[in-house]
Amino acid sequence: MSETFEFQAEISQLLSLIINTVYSNKEIFLRELISNASDALDKIRYTSLSDPSVLDSEKDLKISIIPDKANKTLIIEDTGIGFTKADLVNNLGTIARSGTKQFMEALNAGVDMSLIGQFGVGFYSAYLVADKVQVISKHNDDEQYIWESSAGGSFTIKLDEETPRLGRGTRIVLHMKEDQLQYLEEAKIKEVVKKHSEFISYPIYLHVTKEVETEVPDEEEEKTEEGDDKKPKIEEVDEEEEKKEKKTKKVKEIKTEEEELNKTKPIWTRNPSDITTEEYASFYKSLSNDWEDHLAVKHFSVEGQLEFRAILFVPKRAPFDLFETKRNKNNIKLYVRRVFITDDCTDIIPEWLGFVKGVVDSEDLPLNLSRETLQQNKIMKVIKKNIIKKTLEMFNEISEDRELFDKFYSAFSKNIKLGIHEDSQNRSALAKLLRYNSTKSTDEMTSLSDYVTRMPEHQKNIYFITGESLKAVEKSPFLDALKAKNFEVLFLVDPIDEYAMTQLKEFDGKKLVDITKDFELEETEEEKKDREEEIKNFEGLAKSIKEILGEKVEKVVVSHKLVDAPSAIRTGQFGWSANMERIMKSQALRDTSMSSYMASKKTLEISPKSSIIKALKTKVEEEGTSKAVSDLVFLLYETSLLTSGFTLEEPNSFAKRINGLISLGLDIEDAPEAEAAPATSNETAAEAAAESAMEEVD
Ligand code: ADP
Repeated sequence: MSETFEFQAEISQLLSLIINTVYSNKEIFLRELISNASDALDKIRYTSLSDPSVLDSEKDLKISIIPDKANKTLIIEDTGIGFTKADLVNNLGTIARSGTKQFMEALNAGVDMSLIGQFGVGFYSAYLVADKVQVISKHNDDEQYIWESSAGGSFTIKLDEETPRLGRGTRIVLHMKEDQLQYLEEAKIKEVVKKHSEFISYPIYLHVTKEVETEVPDEEEEKTEEGDDKKPKIEEVDEEEEKKEKKTKKVKEIKTEEEELNKTKPIWTRNPSDITTEEYASFYKSLSNDWEDHLAVKHFSVEGQLEFRAILFVPKRAPFDLFETKRNKNNIKLYVRRVFITDDCTDIIPEWLGFVKGVVDSEDLPLNLSRETLQQNKIMKVIKKNIIKKTLEMFNEISEDRELFDKFYSAFSKNIKLGIHEDSQNRSALAKLLRYNSTKSTDEMTSLSDYVTRMPEHQKNIYFITGESLKAVEKSPFLDALKAKNFEVLFLVDPIDEYAMTQLKEFDGKKLVDITKDFELEETEEEKKDREEEIKNFEGLAKSIKEILGEKVEKVVVSHKLVDAPSAIRTGQFGWSANMERIMKSQALRDTSMSSYMASKKTLEISPKSSIIKALKTKVEEEGTSKAVSDLVFLLYETSLLTSGFTLEEPNSFAKRINGLISLGLDIEDAPEAEAAPATSNETAAEAAAESAMEEVD
C-alpha cells in the first residue's frame, strides 16, 4: 500500500521551476546525484569507523550507473547509508531547507541552474532530465522503501516488495524524458562523469554492454553426437576435444561489464608540478559544486614531526550563506591516509576562513576518530595552525596581482576584518591586506603600507574616519583640520571596520586614530600658542552654549581640530563612536543594558575660525542667552549631530526650528513658534532651568 504526501509548497514551486525553465546544461543532474551518493557513502564509512558492523549489510563501497535503453531508464545506485522511511519523507519533499527559497530567488536574479548543489537541493535536478523518479532505498535501521514522484505536487512512499533487494544503499531510477535519451549513451555518460565527477573518492562503475564473439561448439554437430540435448556441455566438449577434432561456430553474445570511470589517484597525493591548472579547477569544482573556476589555489605538504598534505582553494565569490549563523558546514574535507573522515570538523580552520575550500590528508591521525576526540586532538591544533599560515601565504600571493586581489577583496574583505578581530596572532599580517579609500585615494583603495609611505614627516598617527557610507564621510567637518595639515584620512564605511580597528590598535608602530573621537592632533609651537589664545577668547561662548544645551552634551570646547564648519560633535576615546552608536541601534537583538554605559559621551566642539561662531560670540556678548540665541544654539547642536554621524533624537523639534528659519526667509509674519528646547516629558532639570532662564530674558 502506498502513502501519498504533498510536497512542501516551496519545493513544489522549485520543482516546477526546474521542469519548466529552459536550460541547456542539464547534464549537471548526474554530478548532483553522484555527489549525493558519495556523501551517503561518506556517512556510512564514518559510522563504520566506530562500529565496523554497520558494513555487514554490504561491504563494497561504490557507485554504479546503469543505463537501460529498452526501458528508457538511468539508474544511479550507491551502497551508502540509505534512507529510512522517515528520511525519505523529510529529506525528499516535506521539509524545505533555507536554500530552497534562496535558490529560487537566486535563479530569478540570474544565477546559473548549475549552482543548485550549493543551495542543498541538488536532488531535485533529477527532474531536469526525468519526468518520473523513483528512489529505492535500504537503510540498516529500516525496511526497503520506494519513493516515487512525477512532480506535480505530490510523491508516494511504499514498502518495497517488488524490486531486487539492496544490501544497503540507494537506487535512483530516472525515467528519462523523451528528449533526454542521450544520457543513456555510454559515451555521453563517460564524458559527463569525467567532466564533473572525476575526483569522487569512491569507484564509479558504469554498466556497459558489449557484443562479444565467442566460439561455441556447433550444435548441429553436437546433435548428432548428443541427441536432443540442446545445452552445450562445455566440460564434455573439452573432454571430447581430446578425443577428436571438434567443429565450432562463432556466436555473438551481449555481455554486461562494469567499467570503472574514475581511476585517477587522489590529486593531492600527486606532485604539484605535474598538475595542470585545469586539473586543479576540475578538482575544485567537484569539491565545491561551484560552476566557476577557483580564484587561487595552494597545494602543499608539511613534513617532519607531523605529516599532512593539503590543497586549499579560494573561490571567486562568497557563498550565499557565508555569514549565516546556523551554517555549520565546513568546507575542508579531512582524510586520514586517503580515507575520508569528515567534512564537519570545526577545529580544522577558523570561522573567519570559512570560505576557504579544500582537502587535508593527515598521516598521523588515528582512523577511528570520533568528533569529540577530534576537537581536543593536539595534531589537529598543529594542522589548523599550518592551514592558517598557508592560507595567509596564499592571500599574499593574490595581493601581488592587483586585478585578482580586487576580486578577492570585494568578496572576502569582511572575513579579513573578522580575522583581525578574532585572531590576535595573525592580526598584523592580516592588516597588510586591508584596503580603504581615503582623502588622498578616492578612486582606488589604498593599503595601510602605502598610506604610511605618504605620511608627512611630522605626522605620527594613522588617521581614519568611520561612517555609514563614503558619501557620508567624504565631506565630514572632522576632515578639514587634517586636510589642512596634509594628513591623509582613511574612510572606514563597513560596519565591521570599527570592530577590527579596535582590536588592531596600531600598524607599523603607528597608532590608528578615529578622528570622530577625541584625539591629540600634532601641532607646532606656534599653533599651540594660537590655540591657547583662541581658547581664552571663546571660553565664555563655550560656557554659555553648555548652559543652553544642558545635559545634551558632556562638554563644549573651543577646538582647533575644526576649520570651516562652525561645530561638530566628537565622542570620547573609549566609548562608542557615532558610527558604532548607529550600528548598535540598528541591531535588533542588542543588549540594551550595554547602551547606557557604552553610549557615546558627546563633546560639542566649536571652531573659532568659523564666521558663524565669531558672530554668535558677538551676539551672546550683546544679548546673553536670549531665546533667539538659544534657538540658534540648538540648531547648531542638531546640525552637528547630523554632520557628525549621529541621528536626531527629536527630528520634529529640529524641523520646527528649520521651518521657523524658512518662514523668516519668506517674510511670513505669523511664523510658527520655534521651540526653544525640545518639549519632552523627560526634560532634564538643567534644560528646564535653561528654558526658564531664557524666558526671563525674553
Ligand atoms: P544536499 O545538498 O543536502 O545533498 P539534496 O537535495 O541533494 O541536498 O538531498 C537532500 C537530502 O537527501 C540529503 O541531505 C541527504 O540527507 C539525502 N540524500 C540524497 N541523496 C541520498 C543518497 N543517495 N543516499 C542517502 N541519502 C541521500
